[in-house]
Amino acid sequence: MDHNATTPCDPRVVDAMIPYFTNKFGNAASRNHKFGWEGEEAVDYAREQVAKLINADPKEIIFTSGATEADNLAIKGVFEMYKEKGNHIITAKTEHKAVLDACKHVEKLGAEVTYLSVKEDGLIDLAELEAAMKPTTILVSIMYANNEIGVIQPIKEISAIAKKHGALFFTDAVQAVGKTKVDVIADGIDLLAFTAHKMYGPKGVGALYVRRKNPRVKVTAQMDGGGHERGMRSGTLNVPGIVGFGKACEICIHEMESDAARIGKMRDHLEKELLTLEESYLNGNKEHRLPHVANISFKYVEGEGLLMGVKDIALSSGSACTSASLEPSYVLKALGLDDELAHSSLRFGLGRFTTDEEVDFTINQVKEAVTKLRDMSPLWEMFKEGIDLKTIDWQEH
Ligand SMILES: *Cc1c(COP(=O)(O)O)cnc(C)c1O
Repeated sequence: MDHNATTPCDPRVVDAMIPYFTNKFGNAASRNHKFGWEGEEAVDYAREQVAKLINADPKEIIFTSGATEADNLAIKGVFEMYKEKGNHIITAKTEHKAVLDACKHVEKLGAEVTYLSVKEDGLIDLAELEAAMKPTTILVSIMYANNEIGVIQPIKEISAIAKKHGALFFTDAVQAVGKTKVDVIADGIDLLAFTAHKMYGPKGVGALYVRRKNPRVKVTAQMDGGGHERGMRSGTLNVPGIVGFGKACEICIHEMESDAARIGKMRDHLEKELLTLEESYLNGNKEHRLPHVANISFKYVEGEGLLMGVKDIALSSGSACTSASLEPSYVLKALGLDDELAHSSLRFGLGRFTTDEEVDFTINQVKEAVTKLRDMSPLWEMFKEGIDLKTIDWQEH
Protein backbone atom coordinates (compact mmCIF):
# COMPACT_ATOMS: atom_id res chain seq x y z
CA MET A 1 0.00 0.00 0.00
CA ASP A 2 3.04 2.25 -0.31
CA HIS A 3 3.59 2.29 -4.07
CA ASN A 4 4.14 6.04 -4.11
CA ALA A 5 7.43 5.42 -2.32
CA THR A 6 8.58 2.81 -4.81
CA THR A 7 7.34 -0.11 -6.91
CA PRO A 8 8.65 -3.62 -7.48
CA CYS A 9 10.47 -4.23 -10.76
CA ASP A 10 8.19 -5.90 -13.26
CA PRO A 11 9.73 -9.35 -14.01
CA ARG A 12 9.71 -8.43 -17.72
CA VAL A 13 11.92 -5.46 -16.87
CA VAL A 14 14.40 -7.67 -14.99
CA ASP A 15 14.54 -10.11 -17.92
CA ALA A 16 15.40 -7.28 -20.30
CA MET A 17 18.15 -5.98 -18.00
CA ILE A 18 20.02 -9.19 -17.17
CA PRO A 19 22.18 -9.57 -20.32
CA TYR A 20 23.52 -6.04 -19.81
CA PHE A 21 25.16 -6.98 -16.52
CA THR A 22 27.10 -9.92 -17.97
CA ASN A 23 27.60 -10.64 -21.70
CA LYS A 24 26.65 -7.21 -22.95
CA PHE A 25 28.49 -5.19 -20.34
CA GLY A 26 30.02 -2.59 -22.66
CA ASN A 27 30.38 1.10 -21.92
CA ALA A 28 27.90 2.87 -24.22
CA ALA A 29 30.55 5.53 -24.87
CA SER A 30 33.22 3.08 -26.11
CA ARG A 31 33.42 3.75 -29.83
CA ASN A 32 35.99 1.18 -30.93
CA HIS A 33 34.52 -2.24 -30.32
CA LYS A 34 31.43 -4.41 -30.32
CA PHE A 35 30.89 -4.21 -26.56
CA GLY A 36 30.56 -0.45 -26.71
CA TRP A 37 28.33 -0.54 -29.80
CA GLU A 38 26.03 -3.05 -28.12
CA GLY A 39 25.68 -0.80 -25.09
CA GLU A 40 25.07 2.24 -27.23
CA GLU A 41 22.46 0.43 -29.31
CA ALA A 42 20.64 -0.67 -26.15
CA VAL A 43 20.66 2.88 -24.77
CA ASP A 44 19.39 4.28 -28.10
CA TYR A 45 16.52 1.82 -28.10
CA ALA A 46 15.64 2.58 -24.47
CA ARG A 47 15.77 6.30 -25.21
CA GLU A 48 13.11 5.77 -27.88
CA GLN A 49 10.90 3.78 -25.51
CA VAL A 50 11.25 6.39 -22.75
CA ALA A 51 10.61 9.31 -25.13
CA LYS A 52 7.58 7.64 -26.66
CA LEU A 53 5.77 7.35 -23.32
CA ILE A 54 5.73 11.15 -22.92
CA ASN A 55 5.52 11.99 -26.66
CA ALA A 56 9.04 13.46 -26.76
CA ASP A 57 11.85 13.12 -29.26
CA PRO A 58 14.58 10.67 -28.13
CA LYS A 59 17.13 13.49 -28.40
CA GLU A 60 15.24 15.35 -25.69
CA ILE A 61 15.88 12.68 -23.03
CA ILE A 62 18.78 13.22 -20.61
CA PHE A 63 19.37 10.12 -18.49
CA THR A 64 20.14 10.73 -14.81
CA SER A 65 20.44 8.73 -11.60
CA GLY A 66 16.79 9.37 -10.78
CA ALA A 67 14.29 12.14 -10.28
CA THR A 68 16.10 13.84 -7.42
CA GLU A 69 18.98 14.48 -9.79
CA ALA A 70 16.62 15.47 -12.63
CA ASP A 71 14.82 17.94 -10.34
CA ASN A 72 18.16 19.44 -9.30
CA LEU A 73 19.40 19.62 -12.89
CA ALA A 74 16.22 21.34 -14.04
CA ILE A 75 16.11 24.01 -11.34
CA LYS A 76 19.80 24.70 -10.82
CA GLY A 77 20.53 24.20 -14.53
CA VAL A 78 17.84 26.63 -15.70
CA PHE A 79 18.79 29.18 -13.06
CA GLU A 80 22.44 29.12 -14.16
CA MET A 81 21.65 29.10 -17.89
CA TYR A 82 19.07 31.90 -17.81
CA LYS A 83 20.30 34.13 -15.00
CA GLU A 84 21.01 36.98 -17.42
CA LYS A 85 17.33 36.95 -18.30
CA GLY A 86 15.97 36.96 -14.75
CA ASN A 87 16.23 35.42 -11.30
CA HIS A 88 12.62 34.70 -10.35
CA ILE A 89 11.28 31.15 -9.96
CA ILE A 90 7.75 30.13 -9.00
CA THR A 91 6.94 26.83 -7.29
CA ALA A 92 4.42 25.50 -4.76
CA LYS A 93 4.55 24.60 -1.08
CA THR A 94 3.43 21.03 -1.76
CA GLU A 95 6.30 20.13 -4.08
CA HIS A 96 8.67 17.24 -3.39
CA LYS A 97 11.71 18.00 -1.21
CA ALA A 98 14.02 17.59 -4.20
CA VAL A 99 12.34 20.59 -5.82
CA LEU A 100 11.95 22.65 -2.66
CA ASP A 101 15.54 22.11 -1.54
CA ALA A 102 16.94 22.84 -5.01
CA CYS A 103 14.96 26.09 -4.89
CA LYS A 104 16.40 26.86 -1.44
CA HIS A 105 19.85 26.27 -2.92
CA VAL A 106 19.44 28.72 -5.80
CA GLU A 107 17.96 31.27 -3.39
CA LYS A 108 21.37 31.35 -1.73
CA LEU A 109 22.88 32.08 -5.15
CA GLY A 110 20.62 35.06 -5.75
CA ALA A 111 17.36 33.59 -7.00
CA GLU A 112 14.05 34.96 -5.82
CA VAL A 113 11.59 32.12 -5.27
CA THR A 114 7.83 32.40 -4.81
CA TYR A 115 6.27 29.43 -3.00
CA LEU A 116 2.58 29.35 -3.96
CA SER A 117 0.12 28.05 -1.42
CA VAL A 118 -2.51 25.56 -2.52
CA LYS A 119 -6.27 25.51 -2.11
CA GLU A 120 -7.97 23.18 0.36
CA ASP A 121 -8.14 20.51 -2.34
CA GLY A 122 -4.39 20.63 -3.00
CA LEU A 123 -4.59 22.36 -6.38
CA ILE A 124 -2.86 25.66 -7.02
CA ASP A 125 -4.92 28.76 -7.68
CA LEU A 126 -4.30 29.79 -11.31
CA ALA A 127 -5.14 33.43 -10.57
CA GLU A 128 -2.49 33.39 -7.85
CA LEU A 129 0.05 31.98 -10.31
CA GLU A 130 -0.85 34.62 -12.88
CA ALA A 131 -0.47 37.34 -10.26
CA ALA A 132 2.94 36.00 -9.19
CA MET A 133 4.43 36.19 -12.70
CA LYS A 134 6.98 38.96 -13.21
CA PRO A 135 9.14 40.16 -16.09
CA THR A 136 12.06 38.46 -14.29
CA THR A 137 10.32 35.07 -13.98
CA ILE A 138 12.44 32.49 -15.77
CA LEU A 139 10.87 29.28 -14.48
CA VAL A 140 7.57 27.91 -13.18
CA SER A 141 8.04 24.57 -11.41
CA ILE A 142 4.83 22.77 -10.51
CA MET A 143 4.56 19.02 -10.06
CA TYR A 144 2.23 17.01 -12.29
CA ALA A 145 0.74 14.83 -9.54
CA ASN A 146 1.37 15.00 -5.83
CA ASN A 147 3.13 12.08 -4.14
CA GLU A 148 1.14 12.29 -0.90
CA ILE A 149 -2.41 13.04 -2.01
CA GLY A 150 -2.30 12.16 -5.71
CA VAL A 151 -3.95 15.35 -6.97
CA ILE A 152 -3.22 16.24 -10.59
CA GLN A 153 -2.53 19.93 -11.19
CA PRO A 154 -4.08 21.79 -14.16
CA ILE A 155 -0.89 21.35 -16.20
CA LYS A 156 -2.10 22.76 -19.55
CA GLU A 157 -3.38 25.94 -17.88
CA ILE A 158 -0.16 26.35 -15.87
CA SER A 159 2.08 25.91 -18.93
CA ALA A 160 -0.04 28.42 -20.87
CA ILE A 161 0.42 31.04 -18.14
CA ALA A 162 4.19 30.44 -18.03
CA LYS A 163 4.44 30.66 -21.82
CA LYS A 164 2.38 33.86 -21.97
CA HIS A 165 4.89 35.53 -19.66
CA GLY A 166 7.96 34.14 -21.44
CA ALA A 167 8.95 31.73 -18.64
CA LEU A 168 9.87 28.06 -18.96
CA PHE A 169 7.64 25.41 -17.42
CA PHE A 170 9.19 22.49 -15.53
CA THR A 171 7.17 19.69 -13.96
CA ASP A 172 8.22 16.93 -11.57
CA ALA A 173 6.04 14.23 -13.15
CA VAL A 174 7.39 11.26 -11.17
CA GLN A 175 4.01 10.11 -9.90
CA ALA A 176 2.11 10.76 -13.12
CA VAL A 177 4.26 9.25 -15.88
CA GLY A 178 3.19 5.69 -16.61
CA LYS A 179 0.05 6.06 -14.48
CA THR A 180 -1.87 8.65 -16.48
CA LYS A 181 -1.43 10.18 -19.93
CA VAL A 182 1.44 12.66 -19.98
CA ASP A 183 2.19 14.38 -23.30
CA VAL A 184 4.90 17.04 -23.32
CA ILE A 185 3.58 18.55 -26.58
CA ALA A 186 -0.12 18.69 -25.69
CA ASP A 187 0.65 19.73 -22.12
CA GLY A 188 3.13 22.45 -23.16
CA ILE A 189 5.93 21.18 -20.95
CA ASP A 190 9.52 22.48 -21.40
CA LEU A 191 11.27 20.27 -18.83
CA LEU A 192 10.00 17.15 -17.08
CA ALA A 193 11.52 14.86 -14.45
CA PHE A 194 10.64 11.19 -14.01
CA THR A 195 12.16 8.06 -12.54
CA ALA A 196 12.08 4.33 -13.30
CA HIS A 197 11.50 2.96 -9.79
CA LYS A 198 8.09 4.60 -9.41
CA MET A 199 6.86 2.84 -12.55
CA TYR A 200 7.99 -0.78 -12.10
CA GLY A 201 11.54 -0.17 -13.28
CA PRO A 202 14.83 -0.30 -11.35
CA LYS A 203 16.04 2.16 -8.74
CA GLY A 204 18.84 4.59 -9.54
CA VAL A 205 17.83 5.65 -13.04
CA GLY A 206 15.61 8.46 -14.27
CA ALA A 207 15.51 11.20 -16.85
CA LEU A 208 15.04 14.86 -17.50
CA TYR A 209 13.14 15.75 -20.66
CA VAL A 210 14.55 18.98 -22.10
CA ARG A 211 12.59 20.51 -25.00
CA ARG A 212 14.60 21.03 -28.19
CA LYS A 213 12.30 23.29 -30.20
CA ASN A 214 9.62 25.97 -29.61
CA PRO A 215 11.55 26.94 -27.54
CA ARG A 216 14.96 25.28 -27.57
CA VAL A 217 15.75 24.83 -23.88
CA LYS A 218 19.20 24.38 -22.37
CA VAL A 219 20.35 23.64 -18.84
CA THR A 220 23.81 24.14 -17.40
CA ALA A 221 25.34 20.78 -16.46
CA GLN A 222 25.58 20.12 -12.73
CA MET A 223 27.95 17.19 -13.25
CA ASP A 224 31.09 17.94 -15.20
CA GLY A 225 33.16 15.33 -16.99
CA GLY A 226 33.12 13.43 -20.27
CA GLY A 227 30.29 15.44 -21.81
CA HIS A 228 27.76 12.61 -22.03
CA GLU A 229 24.06 13.32 -22.69
CA ARG A 230 24.70 16.26 -25.02
CA GLY A 231 26.93 17.84 -22.41
CA MET A 232 24.15 18.21 -19.89
CA ARG A 233 25.00 15.23 -17.70
CA SER A 234 28.43 13.65 -17.67
CA GLY A 235 29.04 10.16 -16.33
CA THR A 236 29.11 6.63 -17.74
CA LEU A 237 25.56 5.61 -18.50
CA ASN A 238 23.87 3.01 -16.31
CA VAL A 239 23.20 0.73 -19.28
CA PRO A 240 21.28 -2.08 -17.49
CA GLY A 241 19.24 0.50 -15.58
CA ILE A 242 18.45 2.45 -18.73
CA VAL A 243 17.43 -0.76 -20.55
CA GLY A 244 15.10 -1.54 -17.63
CA PHE A 245 13.71 1.99 -17.63
CA GLY A 246 12.99 1.65 -21.36
CA LYS A 247 11.23 -1.67 -20.89
CA ALA A 248 9.19 -0.26 -17.98
CA CYS A 249 8.07 2.62 -20.20
CA GLU A 250 7.15 0.28 -23.04
CA ILE A 251 5.00 -1.81 -20.70
CA CYS A 252 3.26 1.34 -19.47
CA ILE A 253 2.52 2.44 -23.03
CA HIS A 254 0.58 -0.78 -23.57
CA GLU A 255 -0.88 -1.43 -20.13
CA MET A 256 -1.29 1.95 -18.44
CA GLU A 257 -4.93 2.32 -19.37
CA SER A 258 -6.07 -1.14 -18.33
CA ASP A 259 -3.93 -0.95 -15.16
CA ALA A 260 -5.52 2.37 -14.22
CA ALA A 261 -9.04 1.01 -14.71
CA ARG A 262 -8.39 -2.11 -12.63
CA ILE A 263 -6.38 -0.44 -9.86
CA GLY A 264 -8.83 2.48 -9.81
CA LYS A 265 -11.67 0.09 -9.01
CA MET A 266 -9.73 -1.39 -6.10
CA ARG A 267 -8.82 2.09 -4.83
CA ASP A 268 -12.45 3.21 -5.03
CA HIS A 269 -13.54 0.15 -3.06
CA LEU A 270 -10.90 0.75 -0.38
CA GLU A 271 -11.79 4.41 -0.16
CA LYS A 272 -15.53 3.84 0.00
CA GLU A 273 -15.15 1.28 2.77
CA LEU A 274 -12.78 3.40 4.87
CA LEU A 275 -14.95 6.48 4.50
CA THR A 276 -17.82 4.56 6.09
CA LEU A 277 -15.92 5.11 9.35
CA GLU A 278 -17.33 8.14 11.14
CA GLU A 279 -15.21 11.30 11.06
CA SER A 280 -12.94 10.11 8.28
CA TYR A 281 -12.04 12.51 5.51
CA LEU A 282 -10.53 12.21 2.06
CA ASN A 283 -7.64 14.62 1.48
CA GLY A 284 -7.20 16.34 -1.86
CA ASN A 285 -9.36 16.89 -4.90
CA LYS A 286 -11.43 13.78 -5.62
CA GLU A 287 -11.84 14.27 -9.39
CA HIS A 288 -8.40 15.51 -10.45
CA ARG A 289 -6.48 12.66 -8.96
CA LEU A 290 -4.33 9.62 -9.77
CA PRO A 291 -6.37 6.42 -9.94
CA HIS A 292 -4.26 4.44 -7.45
CA VAL A 293 -3.92 6.90 -4.57
CA ALA A 294 -6.10 7.74 -1.57
CA ASN A 295 -5.10 9.85 1.42
CA ILE A 296 -7.52 9.66 4.33
CA SER A 297 -7.58 11.34 7.76
CA PHE A 298 -9.20 9.64 10.73
CA LYS A 299 -10.18 12.28 13.26
CA TYR A 300 -9.70 11.63 16.99
CA VAL A 301 -7.13 8.93 16.30
CA GLU A 302 -3.59 9.26 17.55
CA GLY A 303 -1.31 9.09 14.52
CA GLU A 304 1.57 7.02 15.80
CA GLY A 305 -0.82 4.54 17.39
CA LEU A 306 -2.55 4.21 14.04
CA LEU A 307 0.63 3.27 12.18
CA MET A 308 1.50 0.80 14.98
CA GLY A 309 -1.98 -0.67 14.74
CA VAL A 310 -1.58 -1.45 11.04
CA LYS A 311 2.02 -2.57 11.16
CA ASP A 312 1.34 -5.68 9.07
CA ILE A 313 0.65 -3.38 6.16
CA ALA A 314 3.34 -1.37 4.35
CA LEU A 315 1.76 2.05 4.74
CA SER A 316 2.98 5.53 5.43
CA SER A 317 1.47 8.66 6.83
CA GLY A 318 3.31 10.89 4.40
CA SER A 319 6.20 10.73 2.00
CA ALA A 320 9.06 8.31 2.59
CA CYS A 321 11.49 11.23 2.60
CA THR A 322 9.97 12.79 5.71
CA SER A 323 8.50 9.75 7.47
CA ALA A 324 11.69 9.29 9.50
CA SER A 325 10.81 12.44 11.40
CA LEU A 326 7.74 12.80 13.57
CA GLU A 327 6.85 16.05 11.85
CA PRO A 328 3.36 16.02 10.37
CA SER A 329 3.25 16.16 6.58
CA TYR A 330 3.91 19.64 5.20
CA VAL A 331 1.72 18.75 2.24
CA LEU A 332 -1.32 18.08 4.42
CA LYS A 333 -0.58 21.18 6.46
CA ALA A 334 -0.52 23.22 3.24
CA LEU A 335 -4.07 21.96 2.61
CA GLY A 336 -5.05 23.52 5.93
CA LEU A 337 -5.10 20.41 8.14
CA ASP A 338 -4.01 20.96 11.74
CA ASP A 339 -1.11 18.93 13.19
CA GLU A 340 -3.38 16.39 14.80
CA LEU A 341 -5.43 15.62 11.72
CA ALA A 342 -2.30 15.54 9.57
CA HIS A 343 -0.83 13.00 11.99
CA SER A 344 -3.89 10.77 11.83
CA SER A 345 -3.73 10.45 8.05
CA LEU A 346 -2.75 7.46 5.96
CA ARG A 347 -1.53 7.46 2.39
CA PHE A 348 -2.65 4.44 0.36
CA GLY A 349 -0.85 3.78 -2.91
CA LEU A 350 -1.99 0.70 -4.79
CA GLY A 351 0.03 -0.90 -7.55
CA ARG A 352 0.14 -3.17 -10.57
CA PHE A 353 0.47 -6.31 -8.47
CA THR A 354 -1.96 -5.39 -5.67
CA THR A 355 -4.66 -8.02 -5.16
CA ASP A 356 -8.28 -7.80 -4.03
CA GLU A 357 -7.32 -9.89 -0.98
CA GLU A 358 -4.69 -7.33 0.03
CA VAL A 359 -7.21 -4.54 -0.33
CA ASP A 360 -9.74 -6.38 1.86
CA PHE A 361 -7.05 -7.15 4.44
CA THR A 362 -6.15 -3.46 4.53
CA ILE A 363 -9.77 -2.38 4.92
CA ASN A 364 -10.28 -4.73 7.86
CA GLN A 365 -7.02 -3.87 9.62
CA VAL A 366 -7.49 -0.12 9.31
CA LYS A 367 -11.12 -0.26 10.44
CA GLU A 368 -10.14 -2.37 13.42
CA ALA A 369 -7.22 -0.11 14.41
CA VAL A 370 -9.24 3.09 14.12
CA THR A 371 -12.13 1.66 16.13
CA LYS A 372 -9.83 0.31 18.83
CA LEU A 373 -7.90 3.55 19.21
CA ARG A 374 -11.08 5.57 19.42
CA ASP A 375 -12.50 3.25 22.06
CA MET A 376 -9.52 4.19 24.22
CA SER A 377 -9.66 7.89 23.43
CA PRO A 378 -11.20 10.37 25.87
CA LEU A 379 -11.50 12.88 23.01
CA TRP A 380 -13.60 10.46 21.01
CA GLU A 381 -15.81 9.84 24.05
CA MET A 382 -16.36 13.57 24.47
CA PHE A 383 -17.09 13.94 20.77
CA LYS A 384 -19.67 11.16 21.03
CA GLU A 385 -21.25 12.91 24.01
CA GLY A 386 -21.72 15.92 21.80
CA ILE A 387 -19.20 18.14 23.56
CA ASP A 388 -17.68 20.66 21.19
CA LEU A 389 -13.95 20.16 21.81
CA LYS A 390 -13.12 23.60 20.50
CA THR A 391 -15.03 25.29 23.34
CA ILE A 392 -13.13 23.52 26.11
CA ASP A 393 -10.67 25.47 28.21
CA TRP A 394 -8.00 22.86 28.89
CA GLN A 395 -6.05 24.92 31.39
CA GLU A 396 -6.22 24.20 35.08
CA HIS A 397 -7.56 26.97 37.25
C1 LIG B 1 10.08 9.71 -5.52
C2 LIG B 1 9.95 11.09 -5.98
C3 LIG B 1 11.07 11.84 -6.34
C4 LIG B 1 12.49 11.31 -6.18
O1 LIG B 1 12.80 10.37 -7.15
P1 LIG B 1 14.13 9.48 -7.00
O2 LIG B 1 14.28 8.83 -8.33
O3 LIG B 1 13.81 8.50 -5.91
O4 LIG B 1 15.25 10.36 -6.67
C5 LIG B 1 10.89 13.14 -6.79
N1 LIG B 1 9.67 13.65 -6.90
C6 LIG B 1 8.55 12.98 -6.57
C7 LIG B 1 7.22 13.61 -6.72
C8 LIG B 1 8.65 11.68 -6.07
O5 LIG B 1 7.56 11.02 -5.73
